[in-house]
Amino acid sequence: MFAVTWAAKDEAERETMKRDRKVKIVATLGPASSTYEMIRDLHEAGADVFRLNMSHGSHDEIAERHRIIRQVEEEYNSPIAILADLQGPKLRVGVFANDAEDLIEGAGFRLDLDEAAGTATRVNLPHPEIFQALEPGSTLLVNDGKIRLRVEECGPDFANCIVVTGGTISNRKGVNVPDVLLPLAALSEKDRADLEFVCDLGVDWLALSFVQRPEDVEEARALARDRAFILSKIEKPAAVERFDQILAASDGIMVARGDLGVELPVQAVPPIQKQLVRKTRRAAKPVIVATQMMESMIESPVPTRAEVSDVAGAIYEGADAVMLSAESAAGSYPTEAVSMMDRVAAEIETDPTYRQIIAASRQTTGASVADAIVAAAREIAETTDIKAICCYSQSGTTALLTARERPNVPIIAITSELNTARALALVWGCTTVRTGKLDRFKMAVINAARAARAGGFATEEDQIVVTAGVPFNIPGTTNILRVAPCDERRIVKTDPE
Ligand code: PGA
Ligand code: MN
Repeated sequence: MFAVTWAAKDEAERETMKRDRKVKIVATLGPASSTYEMIRDLHEAGADVFRLNMSHGSHDEIAERHRIIRQVEEEYNSPIAILADLQGPKLRVGVFANDAEDLIEGAGFRLDLDEAAGTATRVNLPHPEIFQALEPGSTLLVNDGKIRLRVEECGPDFANCIVVTGGTISNRKGVNVPDVLLPLAALSEKDRADLEFVCDLGVDWLALSFVQRPEDVEEARALARDRAFILSKIEKPAAVERFDQILAASDGIMVARGDLGVELPVQAVPPIQKQLVRKTRRAAKPVIVATQMMESMIESPVPTRAEVSDVAGAIYEGADAVMLSAESAAGSYPTEAVSMMDRVAAEIETDPTYRQIIAASRQTTGASVADAIVAAAREIAETTDIKAICCYSQSGTTALLTARERPNVPIIAITSELNTARALALVWGCTTVRTGKLDRFKMAVINAARAARAGGFATEEDQIVVTAGVPFNIPGTTNILRVAPCDERRIVKTDPE
């Protein structure tokens, strides 16, 4: 961590954070991490994005965590992205008279609309739409896939099943129906209320659970009304099948390996992860790899070798971010888990093989002027001795295109928009600096040089690449690339107004 100051002349000199890595870390907040001290420590340890899981926690608790994050952001002067994760159409059984029952392989078990407490032979499944969609032979998975039921016979208000794999079923356990396109609204009433609540609070990313169709994303986008970027969690086979369309409709993607590994055989998850990361990178949108990355750290201060390898694998693939769930939300070692990810990232990203893999997996697409400029910026930065690519980006689009290039120098995204600065905290390699609105290119170059120096990325002897769009303040106009010295006196002398 280094001291960094604001770039713009009109901003006070204040300290902020600089990370020595490109990949970002998302930490889920929960009971183990809801105090000011803990959230501050997680940010210091490396959390760039905080995830508020709407499946847990009251609105009051969510609002309090949100307030603390913004306080930490203010104190550290470092834009933090808040990602609110909507529960989505998650199915759950009702409650049992004895709270739990053991289901034995080969036995019969009935799901129905009867609200009476469950027994060893039946339980309530309060989702009439599901009974409509089930067919004899359909599979139902309960409790993270531990229990497997096969539908033998079903009607509009029941399904008689055979227990294929037994286990303990208890109150409100989740149910997955992998092989059926569920006739469910993408957003439940709870989701709509949660969406409105978090958009009112002010979050940067909205994550949608159990997305099945591109229309689900569009529905959420209409409700969010530009108040947040939309990230689709890929955790249903139907979403994998229609991934290209879902990606096109979304601003970002999460490889939600938890439910994905329940709905599909676990061995199907790694190839899907690879494919999703590649496609999302190609689309210049951020992609998060999530779930069980450091699972053993819920209870242990050190991860397993396999977990370290898993995190490393996601980084070698060029994912924008790696995520912690229960490790930071409910575990005994939240800050240790973040520090561990931070250390793994720093190590991997200095491995020469990492550079080779990232270069080989680069996907330059598009034929716009901006596409050409960001490719040129990366090329110049890698050919000569350039310390940073400074890109002016109001909406964040140019920063995303620059990140798609996966350059081996830092990307300093300069924007006057607080929302853009915060949202980019999720994006690979981007450090954001806020500046006042500019109308002169010369001032923009001077400002970029200041940002690079103040951030500890460059000294007066160094050179940077600056990209911008002229005229200023019109989104999508990136059309200038300047290789500039970091010495302001030289810029003042040589650059035209
Ligand atoms: P969840 O989503 O933690 O909200 O279930 C992530 C996943 O399923 O992997
Ligand atoms: Mn999930």
